[in-house]
Amino acid sequence: MSKYPLLAAGFAVLLLGAPVMAAAPPANPLLARWTGPYGGVPPFDTVRVEHFKPALEAAMAEQLAEIEVIASNPAKPDFENTVAALERSGRTLSRVGALFGIFSSTNSTPEFQAVESEMAPKLAALSDQITQNEKLFSRLAAVYETRDSSNLNAEQKRLVWLDYTNFVRAGARLGKPAKERLSAINQRLASLFTTFSQNLLADEANYMLVLEKEADLAGLPEPVRQAAALAAESRGQKGKWAILNTRSSMEPFLTYSDRRDLREKVWRTYYNRGDNGDAKDNNKIITEILKLRAERAKLLGYPTHAHWRLENTMAQTPERALELMEAVWKPAVARVHEEVADMAALAKKEGANLTIEPWDYRYYAEKVRKAKYDLDQNAVTPYLQLEKLREGMFWVAGELFGFRFKPVQGVPTLTPDIRVWEVTGRTGQHVGLWYFDPYARPGKNSGAWMNAYRDQERFEGPVTTIVSNNTNFVKAKPGEPVLISWDDATTLFHEFGHALHGLASSVAYPSLSGTNVPRDYVEFPSQLLEHWLSTPEVLNRFALHYQTGKPIPKELVERIERAATFNQGFETVEYLAGALVDMKLHLTATPEKDIDPDAFERETLDALGMPKEIVMRHRTPQFSHIFSSDSYSAGYYSYLWADTLSADAWEAFEEAGGAYDKAMAKRLADHVFSVGNTIDPAAAYRAFRGKDPGTAALMRKRGFPVPAAAAPTGRP
Ligand SMILES: [Zn+2]
Repeated sequence: MSKYPLLAAGFAVLLLGAPVMAAAPPANPLLARWTGPYGGVPPFDTVRVEHFKPALEAAMAEQLAEIEVIASNPAKPDFENTVAALERSGRTLSRVGALFGIFSSTNSTPEFQAVESEMAPKLAALSDQITQNEKLFSRLAAVYETRDSSNLNAEQKRLVWLDYTNFVRAGARLGKPAKERLSAINQRLASLFTTFSQNLLADEANYMLVLEKEADLAGLPEPVRQAAALAAESRGQKGKWAILNTRSSMEPFLTYSDRRDLREKVWRTYYNRGDNGDAKDNNKIITEILKLRAERAKLLGYPTHAHWRLENTMAQTPERALELMEAVWKPAVARVHEEVADMAALAKKEGANLTIEPWDYRYYAEKVRKAKYDLDQNAVTPYLQLEKLREGMFWVAGELFGFRFKPVQGVPTLTPDIRVWEVTGRTGQHVGLWYFDPYARPGKNSGAWMNAYRDQERFEGPVTTIVSNNTNFVKAKPGEPVLISWDDATTLFHEFGHALHGLASSVAYPSLSGTNVPRDYVEFPSQLLEHWLSTPEVLNRFALHYQTGKPIPKELVERIERAATFNQGFETVEYLAGALVDMKLHLTATPEKDIDPDAFERETLDALGMPKEIVMRHRTPQFSHIFSSDSYSAGYYSYLWADTLSADAWEAFEEAGGAYDKAMAKRLADHVFSVGNTIDPAAAYRAFRGKDPGTAALMRKRGFPVPAAAAPTGRP
């Protein structure tokens, strides 16, 4: 029962079509419209965990009531009373859901996790209740069938197509028993996804390597030592050093530690997340997820989960995605063998009698980088100050899109470390807000991501967007800058690319807005933006030494450029192994057979000829892209697919006269960043580039041989 009977009563009132919020303001801050400047901001100052359950229940009831009004409208179905009405519905739930998602990814306390476990299946059930509503679907189908004769504009037609297709793909046309089974599967999957994520978070929080003596730090550069000292201190181990079980702690340790025994320890702990045979082990969960997904795909009329997932992507079929992956796999593996040979030779020269193991790869790769390109990552890091790079990103956004960023005070945030900027456009108009949550903390997912708290739209508005970027840097001592690696700087620009995709959006309907595009297209704007980091304009102004303030020396930049394709064997294979295992898992799974994730991973990689010196970037039991929701499932290939676009698009800038070519920037804004999902992505790309992308640019970017006939990836 809801703790807020007033709102339960509101549900009944809403059925009669009267506004519910006008009578009495809700006591639950999650249910109120966002208030304050900029069209309202999320109420981080007043929301508490106990608000979520009643707010979600009330918001779900409200949406169901809204759906019922649309479905039982006696008027003839048309765009306005059906599709537009759907766009208008569920507004309270999307606000509550935004905060729910933010807590889940950045503030996941045990008490929140309990609410999440309880509510995730209920949210899945609600979504099925809507798509399975027969009266609603028959109205939607009527609008869909008459879409060409109804005087709709292109964006409206696209929205009709998308809604109709999504309903069908979610089972709207199935019979009653199949619908019931489908809904049961979705609810069970929602619970399994939640448990999978919570297990992983626990393994990242509960395991760490505590180093007691200075000798254990051999090889670690000063910033890594400091981060380890602060990590230990914040976990009650002052005076020691802690290597946390997260990517941002693991990677620098494996790169620099001279202690092979400790490297192996850190490596094993990290790559065994979710695979420890204890209460947090994810293997059984994966087996069940795969079976349920296969059963759902069969119910929906698809041979496999992969076929279902890829239908509305750019790739369209698993076969086309596999074709691209396999084309890149072979040259990448060949490059790994060369990289390993270089490392083995160097180790031998140093007198180390060893074969390269996975915990040696980053360490010796770093030494080879130094030897071959005279490029020491440690020499680069002092120039990579987090806050200066952030200013560099702002400057790039100004050059490309005319955006200006101004820090704002007084907008509530979840923690004081989170800061907010107002984004304005060329004429000074308000564009949106950008929240930046840079630091790791307990309860926050590892990695980096972008989130849209509110989508841009003109339909019920104008409504401006609110986006966030989230990373896991370790805080520096007070008064000292946070120094980051070149890889982290690249990630920073990547996530900012997603944020700009949201900020530049200029569409009517929120469902088509910003980053709401197919999975294998959404990584294109973000991967493209990575390229601007290495432009001299950014490096000379913003890559400034944290002590001297001097810009990064030209010859160091040249060395970075020369080394651009260095270690691409490792990076491509580490990623592609995961993408291939993901796709093959979802092509192989059936509703009947239990798949043992460990065995499947081993056998699949053996069959592919996986170099033994590398493991998957995310091993199966920790592959949250594909098991913490459906979103990247059979979709991890998307990064490679989108990179064919971003590599090709970057060459378009180079051909046009450089990274800051005004005409090219305008084409990018007009055809890619501003249009969301209002047009087919392949058509959008063609409009930007004047032709379909091939794989040649991708192969050049990674330093692999370009095949004679590089297949185009655009939709024919
Ligand atoms: Zn991304």
